[in-house]
Amino acid sequence: MSVSVAIVGSGPAGFYTADALVKSDADYRIDIIERLPTPFGLIRYGVSPDHETTRKVSKAFERTALAESVRYFGNVELGRDVGFEELRSLYDAVVLTFGMPRDQMLGIPGDDKAGVIGAAAFVGWYNGHPDFTGLDPDLDTEAAAVIGVGNVALDVARILAKTRAELTATDMPDHALDAIDSASFSDIYIFGRRGPVEAKFSNVELREMGELENGVPVVDGAVIPDAVTGEMAERDVRLKEKNLATLREFARAEAKPGKTRLHFRFYAAPVEVLGDERVEGLRLERTAVVEGRAVGSGEFFEVPCGLVLPAIGYRSALADGVPLDAKRGTVENTDGRVADGVYAAGWIMRGPTGVISSNRTDGRLVASHIDADIKDGKKPGREGLKALLAARGVNFIGYADWQKIESAEIAAARAGAPRGKFVTVDDMLAAAGAETARREAG
Ligand SMILES: Cc1cc2nc3c(=O)[nH]c(=O)nc-3n(C[C@H](O)[C@H](O)[C@H](O)COP(=O)(O)OP(=O)(O)OC[C@H]3O[C@@H](n4cnc5c(N)ncnc54)[C@H](O)[C@@H]3O)c2cc1C
Repeated sequence: MSVSVAIVGSGPAGFYTADALVKSDADYRIDIIERLPTPFGLIRYGVSPDHETTRKVSKAFERTALAESVRYFGNVELGRDVGFEELRSLYDAVVLTFGMPRDQMLGIPGDDKAGVIGAAAFVGWYNGHPDFTGLDPDLDTEAAAVIGVGNVALDVARILAKTRAELTATDMPDHALDAIDSASFSDIYIFGRRGPVEAKFSNVELREMGELENGVPVVDGAVIPDAVTGEMAERDVRLKEKNLATLREFARAEAKPGKTRLHFRFYAAPVEVLGDERVEGLRLERTAVVEGRAVGSGEFFEVPCGLVLPAIGYRSALADGVPLDAKRGTVENTDGRVADGVYAAGWIMRGPTGVISSNRTDGRLVASHIDADIKDGKKPGREGLKALLAARGVNFIGYADWQKIESAEIAAARAGAPRGKFVTVDDMLAAAGAETARREAG
């Protein structure tokens, strides 16, 4: 009998795992279970709308989804529609790839004020994730502070600074395009606790900050070191040298009155969000880097701003009794092995780092574990899941249904844009021709 595998989550980790299993010599029946009707996880809802080329990897995932041995179960959530132990009893192997969808918050006084919005929520909002469609951020402020010095921080700052003309040919939903277009920031800050060498920007993304129609980067040349020092691989030294060269160019650039200033502020740790109920500013402490760590100097300063956007990391959402490592926020695992017949890949296995292709390594690893561990199928798999979902009235959609949603989105695109995204689950289900009522009680 085929070995039945349930993969929970249809982001890169889920699809790379499925792909590795499809290519294996063994006989698998693979079901991809996704809580949203739409597949591809952060490829659709994280990758920046102005980086459409990066999203093209989903075409390879599509080939996997259409493989004979693979089925897609969209609109089925672990913990809501099916339990973790139920999946274990139905499938010979369960692979957890449900990502880390929640924001790591600042953990400083005032970080619960209106106007503090984590990057997971904010990016989800401007990318049309149905969980965040109603976020309605108040962008009526002259200054915004983005906290963090990784590519997500750059994405958020760049998108805020872009004009309608720069965004209209993207798939950013109208609600976000209109709100960003009507905002008029004079200053957007990007704060990092450590220095330019420690920043995790990729150089391509950093250089984009110098190519904005209505934004101009502002850097204090005095904080940029002459050379990259410290213990690191030759490749990392080269990458960081490129970033320092780009920052030096920004520091030399002339001021451009009337444009949004994008301030890179290093060696500054937020210590308090100021204001009554809403954000009115941010208090920060100057830092120095000692043995790679940011150490406070006891010297403080304040920056007025009406929006604080932490882009400092992600955490998991609890999923129905899955064993989580409380400290790392990942599923407890050893190299992708969680428990007998249970595996994990992607962010929920190793934390929220790396690029899309990093998840391919995880997927291959987990597929090799399953190849080694499970030789014969003993559990009902797909037929059992279908029976359980039918008994619960769960309205799951298949890959062909998603393709109907995709066609409707392409038809609804603004001129020049790749698609016009549906931003509620009901609208997605309606486009798929599925009933909107998710299920009856019981
Ligand atoms: C803002 C942002 C921008 C990024 N931009 C880039 C980029 O330009 N280039 C690049 O290389 N990398 C980028 N990345 C990183 C890349 O997106 C990740 O490496 C990758 O998406 C992680 O894959 P994953 O499968 O582990 O998680 P995810 O992509 O998060 O996929 C998890 C999937 O599981 C589903 N799920 C969650 N809970 C459940 C549940 N209970 N039941 C069923 N399904 C569930 C989710 O809906 C989602 O579809 C970016 C990340 C972010 C956050």
